[in-house]
Amino acid sequence: MSIKENLLAIKDTIPESVTLVAVSKTKPISYLQEAYDQGQRVFGENRVQEMTEKWENLPKDIKWHMIGHLQRNKVKYVAEYVSLVHGVDSPRLLAEINKQAKKHNRIIPCLLQVHIAEEDTKFGFNEEELLDLVDNEEFKAFKNVKIEGLMGMATFTDNMEQVRREFSSLKSLFVKLQSTYSDFTTLSMGMSGDYKIAIEEGSTMVRIGSSIFGSRN
Ligand SMILES: *Cc1c(COP(=O)(O)O)cnc(C)c1O
Repeated sequence: MSIKENLLAIKDTIPESVTLVAVSKTKPISYLQEAYDQGQRVFGENRVQEMTEKWENLPKDIKWHMIGHLQRNKVKYVAEYVSLVHGVDSPRLLAEINKQAKKHNRIIPCLLQVHIAEEDTKFGFNEEELLDLVDNEEFKAFKNVKIEGLMGMATFTDNMEQVRREFSSLKSLFVKLQSTYSDFTTLSMGMSGDYKIAIEEGSTMVRIGSSIFGSRN
């Protein structure tokens, strides 16, 4: 199947209200252009240098989402143009994004990454750390970041009941925070292998790579 066909097939399974982030990491610019020509405008990348090169070489109405782990010393390279940072996983990273956004006179939208996987390897806050952070006065004073919601990754497993349970717990946390924090509008969860379950459990944004662009090496 072509990128065009893949994209159309995926879109057929996603409600209008759910944002599709086309995860184009490792893929050449021509692949992104093909998706762009089908109307796709939101792309996800996980490496700063690669994303910046693609931003420089593709149309300027693309929204670039940083979906991977962002190192603090690299925030300055994306602050000018990034549309959404999915993986904010520490107060220090949030502070650095605020600082760099200010230099560009921007407000950068961010999602806080929550550790939902039962496996031990993924980045992110636990529930207690998250509640502390959103209640923190220093954090509330940040003028150049806007926390728009949460992001999470389920355990990499064939056990779909476990995946569902993890997404469901993230959704509950999201709803809990929404009641006090009206800016919370985005719940980023779901990838190629589990996005249908994620949508059933309340995802508003899915990050899909290999099902659109083919598998990565
Ligand atoms: C690579 C990646 C994706 C996309 O994964 P696929 O399985 O190719 O859809 C989604 N989210 C994050 C954080 C990623 O790093």
